[in-house]
Amino acid sequence: MRNNEGRTQIPPELLEQFMKQQEEKVTGAPAPAPPMAATTMGYQVPTDYVNLPSEGRLYPDGHPWKNKDKVEVRYMTTKEEDILANQNYAKAGVLFDKLIDSILVDRVAVDSILPGDKNAIIINARKNSYGENYTFASICENCFADFEHTINLSNLSSVEFDMSKVSQNNTCIVELPVSKKIIEFRIATSQDLKKVAQQVETRKKHGLEVSETSELHRVMIVSIDGSDNSNLISSFASQMLVRDSRFLRKQYEKMKPDVDFTFVHNCTECGHKNKGGVPVGTNFFWFND
Ligand SMILES: [Zn+2]
Repeated sequence: MRNNEGRTQIPPELLEQFMKQQEEKVTGAPAPAPPMAATTMGYQVPTDYVNLPSEGRLYPDGHPWKNKDKVEVRYMTTKEEDILANQNYAKAGVLFDKLIDSILVDRVAVDSILPGDKNAIIINARKNSYGENYTFASICENCFADFEHTINLSNLSSVEFDMSKVSQNNTCIVELPVSKKIIEFRIATSQDLKKVAQQVETRKKHGLEVSETSELHRVMIVSIDGSDNSNLISSFASQMLVRDSRFLRKQYEKMKPDVDFTFVHNCTECGHKNKGGVPVGTNFFWFND
């Protein structure tokens, strides 16, 4: 449906799977959260800077990261290892959010961060604490031979997006091909995506019709032909023409900032060039170099 070539991100399903696997891996009682700062008082944990794939563009007015291209993070300590082993966090699907919250020097609501920027922070934490080489297993899509591939997390760059399409309000403006409506949209935050997932689940539970794309459009559309009326946006999102809807989704994917988390591997058995998204598995936060 969408063209992901060269633009792969860490898909939410994989993150969710990772959390579940973490959960299964962990046994015993969940670790209680350590008291704030008590263990590190008097000692400064070293910090690093993470380049944000969004470059701070696409954050709204008033957001502390608006137009900020990098953020300061602390190196992981045993406190963060406890977070990664916390069963309750894994169950609630907030493991990475808790980790990000713990290492960010800025006080910022994690839910308000763009998903692609979160990916950059997670990858940086992995690199600084467990080494820059990440090895994963995969299968050749041509001959199905198993292979192992190692990527260097220090060499990852951000997916490029067209800055000239970003408005002064850090939104994007496009004209739909069929209805010719002028749509202003923003990139969904983690909170928005949670809202979409909840909405989809609630409607399913009640046996109601639901479209994830419509729900996403509902949260990302800021205005239609200059009007920000929420009733208008809501009814428009649920009745969008197929071509317009697909076009908007494509434009959204094009403008979504992220880390370029793709790899290329030439199969040693058949020579096929495998290209794909790097899987984030259970061993993402393990030493393997
Ligand atoms: Zn092969």
